[in-house]
Amino acid sequence: MATAAQIDKPASYYRDSITVHLEQACPPLVGRRRVDVCVIGGGITGCSAALHLAERGYSVTLLEAHEIGFGASGRSGGQILPGLGTDIATVEQALGRERAREVWELSREAVRLTTELIEQHAIPCDLAWGYLHAAVKSRHVRELKQMQERLARDYGYEALTWLEGEALHERVATSAYPGALHESEGGHLHPLNYTLGLARAAQQAGVTIHEHSAALTIRRGQPATVVTAQGEITADFVVVGANAYLGRLLPELEGRVMRAANYIVATEPLGEERASKVLPRNDALSDANFVLDYYRLSADRRLIYGGEVSYDGREPRGLQQRMDAKIARLFPALEGVRIDYRWGGDVAITLNRAPDFGRLGSNIYYAQGYSGHGMALAGLAGKLVGETIAGQSERFDVFAAMPHRRFPGGERLRTPLLVLATTFYKLRDRL
Ligand SMILES: Cc1cc2nc3c(=O)[nH]c(=O)nc-3n(C[C@H](O)[C@H](O)[C@H](O)COP(=O)(O)OP(=O)(O)OC[C@H]3O[C@@H](n4cnc5c(N)ncnc54)[C@H](O)[C@@H]3O)c2cc1C
Repeated sequence: MATAAQIDKPASYYRDSITVHLEQACPPLVGRRRVDVCVIGGGITGCSAALHLAERGYSVTLLEAHEIGFGASGRSGGQILPGLGTDIATVEQALGRERAREVWELSREAVRLTTELIEQHAIPCDLAWGYLHAAVKSRHVRELKQMQERLARDYGYEALTWLEGEALHERVATSAYPGALHESEGGHLHPLNYTLGLARAAQQAGVTIHEHSAALTIRRGQPATVVTAQGEITADFVVVGANAYLGRLLPELEGRVMRAANYIVATEPLGEERASKVLPRNDALSDANFVLDYYRLSADRRLIYGGEVSYDGREPRGLQQRMDAKIARLFPALEGVRIDYRWGGDVAITLNRAPDFGRLGSNIYYAQGYSGHGMALAGLAGKLVGETIAGQSERFDVFAAMPHRRFPGGERLRTPLLVLATTFYKLRDRL
């Protein structure tokens, strides 16, 4: 059974709507090369790191096992927003209020950086603003209002507005939600075009990219050597942005993240009129469940609807029927709508759902474990790695200071234990 990661091509809806093309072809690496930095992984983390490092004057080669955007970055829901995959209270508990404020401000910077990169490098990726955090039950109403209050009081964040009744209906045309927080600093984009745009900008800045060039081993040392099937790169620094697709390349990181597949469907184009009866203001939305559903409209007015998880790489049984039923329950007018695409991708989750940044020895840097919340943060991670290699590590270390524990259960029991925990939270979602 193929896992989501092994599917040959990423999300075909995104592949079928590519508008950004790389500057040069990216043939597999053959032979030996010496550079300042070797970046592993052609998602947002790797492409952003390569771009920012090249802009600082480093010679950079990026190795991608498949194609640029093959991983989560090219399959994602495309929703961007401040914050982390965990709530700010968890960050406060781990790091204290002052550090948590720095994390929060960096997460807002991540969203601004996304906009800047899109503008600066003229990346056509359908960026649109407006985000809804929707309550499914009264417990969520309380939790969302508490979040809004805490962020306003302790973090000076005023971009959240509570909506219910008619005001909410003007933004999402369903009566399924008792209320929602509207976030003006959140939005959505075409994730594969964005990722390809970063890769193209990196090439324009001088980065050499090799696709179909999996890093098989890293010979540690100063410099380090990254070995592929037909070549090797010797570099002063190695940056690893392989996220859920890392495998066993860095044994020290095993168990710090777990891989979970997440699934998305794209409907046929709805046309302006039907689309305006779903998300009239073109917001993105996610609900407040633990295993959450999220959706938005694409530029050609398809409903891009995501949700559901699996941990063994197998598509959950009855996935399509469940997605169809969810869409029809929210928007009865869409009952029987044609689904043109369905795909899965792998998310890397950490135990506390905060991202895991760090270094191994003095010259290997990694950023991973965005826990389903990496569209904006991964771009910032790449920038912070660039700053760190150039000698300013303070901002990278704000994230690197976050304590991370391995998932319990060792190699054999980790997945069953995670399934058990998720089942518990899924049941709680139903209460
Ligand atoms: C279905 C889905 C929906 C999502 N929706 C959202 C969302 O709406 N909003 C949000 O914020 N986040 C979302 N995410 C998460 C977000 O997409 C990721 O956090 C982000 O894209 C991570 O980027 P990355 O570059 O770190 O990793 P990836 O994009 O996964 O890139 C890693 C790359 O490394 C390559 N690689 C791995 N090993 C090697 C090797 N040994 N040698 C060379 N290359 C290697 C892989 O082929 C891959 O291309 C979603 C993820 C999925 C899967």
